[in-house]
Amino acid sequence: MLQMGRGLALSIGVALCLAATVSVSSASARDVDYKTAGEEATKILADYLRIDTTVPPGNEKKGAEFLAGILKQNGIESQILETAPDRACIYARLKGNGKKKAIVLLNHIDVVPANAADWKHPPFSGEIHDGELWGRGALDMKGMGIIELQAMLMIKKSGVTLDRDIIFLGTPDEEVGGVYGAAWFAKNHADLVKDAEFLLNEGFMIDADDNGKAKYWGVNFAEKSPLWLELTAKGQAGHASMPLPDSATNKLVRALSKLQQSGPNFKVLPPVEEYFKNISSTESGDLKDAYANIVEATKDPAKTKLIMGDVLKSSMLKNTVSLTVMKAGYKTNVIPGEATAQLDCRILPGVTKDEVVSWVKKTIDEPSIDIGVIEWEQAEPSKLDTELYESIKAVAKEEAPGVPVVPVLVPWFTDSHWFRELGITAYGFEPVEVDRVHMATMHGVDERIPVKSIEDGVRRMHKILLKCGGVN
Ligand SMILES: [Zn+2]
Repeated sequence: MLQMGRGLALSIGVALCLAATVSVSSASARDVDYKTAGEEATKILADYLRIDTTVPPGNEKKGAEFLAGILKQNGIESQILETAPDRACIYARLKGNGKKKAIVLLNHIDVVPANAADWKHPPFSGEIHDGELWGRGALDMKGMGIIELQAMLMIKKSGVTLDRDIIFLGTPDEEVGGVYGAAWFAKNHADLVKDAEFLLNEGFMIDADDNGKAKYWGVNFAEKSPLWLELTAKGQAGHASMPLPDSATNKLVRALSKLQQSGPNFKVLPPVEEYFKNISSTESGDLKDAYANIVEATKDPAKTKLIMGDVLKSSMLKNTVSLTVMKAGYKTNVIPGEATAQLDCRILPGVTKDEVVSWVKKTIDEPSIDIGVIEWEQAEPSKLDTELYESIKAVAKEEAPGVPVVPVLVPWFTDSHWFRELGITAYGFEPVEVDRVHMATMHGVDERIPVKSIEDGVRRMHKILLKCGGVN
């Protein structure tokens, strides 16, 4: 909050000498035909959806070249950065006056596979039916990419100069881990974003009820860290006609059973408490009470049961363990000498890998079982007392009075963490309403976005960029 205070004092100071310029550019920046801008974005998105960037193999370079073409038509030069054959990032920058640090608009070009036979309309057709634009990537996340692009183009066209540069960055390979995408970019071209303070990416959106009405604007400020473990038990091999109580398989099953029976250890982080308090009004009955006072609720067995009914929201309250892979044996009548199990643990911010490994060790209480780490990505949260967060809140107040903006901690991870590691404040937030039905189409069948959402998204993104760029 201290930061906001200082920023405000500074802008009042410069307003005195720049009053004329500021008021002229503010007026022209805000004098925008949002309806036309939305229609243009819908057309661009339809063309973009027709480019098949299914990963594997990706072929995202075609998508990057398409975006480069649109940028060029609007007078913005871009760079295509090849990460592998036929795979590329696109990077472009719209200059501001340099008073403040840059904001990155991040999006991924690749999409997950779609089996056309299962879809009502072809996944790469970009067709509009009943007011919705169909196609793989409409929501995840070519739609958001074009919303970002169009908002940037609108600022370019209006001729207004923001206090920050806007960086447009499209990456390949996100859906399979980002090794040839964001990870590659962060490793090889961190210099291109070294002056960036903020980044907007996918990661959460405006949660809507079944009628499409907004419940809250959720801003993903943090993601859980994935920690994948492999447990290996060894024991004497033998003939199955003579059971061995301490065989590898028996030891492993006993250990896993102890893990399964260990109840959830809740840990309510302050922003998560704020999240539940804010969304409690969108629920009713006992759940409303539980969410309103989540710390107390996690100590009450009846309320705990209720909370655990929502697998997404409850995952924000604890470290989780999912047993995913088990391997042992090759023949029914042979007791194998080795058995392994893999665990996908998702860890809250502030908890270390070593703490979790020690907890697993203590819980299974079987010193002979080896615990190996397969994967670990420490995901640090972004702070919330920032100008970008305040800008989102200001736009929400204008666009959807009474609908709260809340910080969300999500159990999945996106490309944002590569940039959080570079010291950039990154939020996962798409300014469009998404209800349960549409949410299920992401990575599922019949992915589509309402044309109205594209228009709303472009308008809101444009307003957020203006506010964060010093135009009020
Ligand atoms: Zn995505």
